[in-house]
Amino acid sequence: MSVLEIRDLHVTVETDQGTTPILNGIDLTINTGETHAIMGPNGSGKSTLAYTIAGHPKYTVTQGSITFDGEDVLAMSVDERARAGLFLAMQYPVEIPGVTVTNFLRTAKTAIDGEAPSVRQWMKDVKSSMSNLRMDAKFAQRNVNEGFSGGEKKRHEILQLEMLKPKFAILDETDSGLDVDALKIVSEGVNRAKEESNLGVLLITHYTRILRYIRPAFVHVIVAGKIVEEGGSELADRLEDEGYDRYLDPAAPIE
Ligand code: ADP
Ligand code: MG
Ligand code: MG
Repeated sequence: MSVLEIRDLHVTVETDQGTTPILNGIDLTINTGETHAIMGPNGSGKSTLAYTIAGHPKYTVTQGSITFDGEDVLAMSVDERARAGLFLAMQYPVEIPGVTVTNFLRTAKTAIDGEAPSVRQWMKDVKSSMSNLRMDAKFAQRNVNEGFSGGEKKRHEILQLEMLKPKFAILDETDSGLDVDALKIVSEGVNRAKEESNLGVLLITHYTRILRYIRPAFVHVIVAGKIVEEGGSELADRLEDEGYDRYLDPAAPIE
């Protein structure tokens, strides 16, 4: 078992107005095999948390720690984080001209494992994962993210997840822009990875829709850079009915 631990995390970002605090003391412990949902209104700092775990240079940790089986994640380069077993879906959102999906996946896998997978087995595995995700075989020969639709980007994320077999996956708004059929296919992919490799999942979302297909055992609500409530999947059900209003209304007490 592996564990990702976030302790008293404070993060700032540089803006035209100067240094702005975004995260104000986040505590979170995720074990492999567990699914945690981070929920909250727009602008509460959810993506900032994801980018900070990913090692995005725009975000500065001013206090607190992130460790992976006791190792200091904040001291690791982005590549080292990937090799340690962290998968961050937004890590490669850019177009990579001239690099096909197949070659990109193989290069990433080689970098993570330290050796190239056997070509024959690899091609077989990519093909079967793509078929599970109902992706056309031609997709493998397209250039990464070049002209991908929203749904294709998300499926490409889950294809990476299935092929790279990380220990933890941080999925930021994986549900946005997906119709119900695509949402089901993408969710099945995540659930397969959970079953097959005991994946730990940090599912970041504003909406409760995806949580009908990927049930989180732990739900954390983040508002203004702080976790304001925690519970089990029943909390996601309650948020589906009530929304975030009660957290935002200053008259409503947060117990
Ligand atoms: P969420 O994902 O919950 O919608 P974000 O983490 O994207 O929230 O943003 C939280 C707050 O931090 C917002 O007020 C946003 O404007 C600000 N912020 C986040 N990233 C940046 C950035 N790179 N530059 C300036 N402001 C940012
Ligand atoms: Mg947002
Ligand atoms: Mg966001």
